[in-house]
Amino acid sequence: MRLILLGPPGAGKGTQAARLVRNLGIPQLSTGDMLRAAVATGTPIGLKAKAVMESGGLVPDEIVVGIISERISEPDAKNGFILDGFPRTVNQAEALEAMLAAKGLKLDAAIELTVDAANLVDRIVNRAAEAKAAGQPVRRDDDPEVFKSRLAAYERETSAVTPFYRARGLLHQVDGMAPIDEVAKAIDAVLSEVAPA
Ligand code: AMP
Repeated sequence: MRLILLGPPGAGKGTQAARLVRNLGIPQLSTGDMLRAAVATGTPIGLKAKAVMESGGLVPDEIVVGIISERISEPDAKNGFILDGFPRTVNQAEALEAMLAAKGLKLDAAIELTVDAANLVDRIVNRAAEAKAAGQPVRRDDDPEVFKSRLAAYERETSAVTPFYRARGLLHQVDGMAPIDEVAKAIDAVLSEVAPA
């Protein structure tokens, strides 16, 4: 199963991806996680990405496309993967399509978690407060001002990715404002439709 989770920052992609990893036994490929790891270890990619990420902008396409191209070639992604946070531009979506086609592979579905943009800032403020209360590190880009820039980047660049997948008959939309369990059930319903057991 090769899946994409779409939706703005704070829509719950990471939460749902983690559950799908457990249920489907395929890896979650999060470009955000990979970039944060690169920043933390100070690799050349991390050095290039750091300032852009801190400002809430998008890292250049060639960097993230390169990362994903290497990652989907690893053995654990052979039977499928869940992309979380990629593609974020139509360019990235086209590059993904080309790299999969070169391997004779196709996507099964792009599942978009739809949300009410007005509620997202509240959600992210809660996410930061919960992480802090649990003694976990708070993402620097979950600062409300940076978060607004991330939302603006989504509107500007990533919203065009939805029609890209709709045009290919791969788009499935799920209400991301519903409780976590209901979102999970709706995603499972999509999965049984695209890949009946
Ligand atoms: P995320 O964890 O998916 O919210 O990503 C955190 C940050 O990493 C984003 O705000 C971007 O700066 C950067 N990033 C992650 N994925 C991508 C991508 N596919 N294209 C460009 N920038 C990305």
